Amino acid sequence: MGERKLEIPDDGRSALTAMPTAFGHAVLGISALAVFPQEALPKRSWLLGIAVSIAPDLDVIAFRFGIPYSHPFGHRGFFHSLLFAWLVAATAAIVASSRSEPRRRPAVLAAYLFVCAASHGLLDTLTDGGLGIAILSPFSNRRFFAPWRPISVSPIGLRHFLLGPAGEVLLSELLWIGLPCIAVVLTAMYVRSRKPRHEGSR
Ligand SMILES: [Zn+2]
Repeated sequence: MGERKLEIPDDGRSALTAMPTAFGHAVLGISALAVFPQEALPKRSWLLGIAVSIAPDLDVIAFRFGIPYSHPFGHRGFFHSLLFAWLVAATAAIVASSRSEPRRRPAVLAAYLFVCAASHGLLDTLTDGGLGIAILSPFSNRRFFAPWRPISVSPIGLRHFLLGPAGEVLLSELLWIGLPCIAVVLTAMYVRSRKPRHEGSR
């Protein structure tokens, strides 16, 4: 897959600002559930997983307030960082666990949600356009990309997406996000099926 660079206007008001699609992030959020013990998670944790895996891209609203792309609070800035992922995951886990019936300890849900939220910024580093990701914000405002960037970047906005490279983007996400996720889910199911059942234990 060739390198496809996008020009980056710092006001971000055009289709040239970039991200993977919400589908790609959501697929990873659902798939990550497979590697956690289901009995330790509240019901419908996957909905929270999808929400926190997509949430960082709400930072595109920064453009509406005139915050430049490269600003610490611009798109792919603090709200794509590992610290923000941890804050969102811990907060959501504490609230959701306290309301679940029966009550669950929030640690497992927090770990699952952290994987979902942190995966967002990390996946973005694999895209072939836009500015890099401030993974270490607020300790460093440096924008990072992975050395290998196979995922075709998606323009922001449904219209730009559909009129633009929708097919190419979805195909690259299927290849580089969808297939690895399927492999992880199948592996987790296989490992679980091999575990001896503790019949009679409590
Ligand atoms: Zn993003």
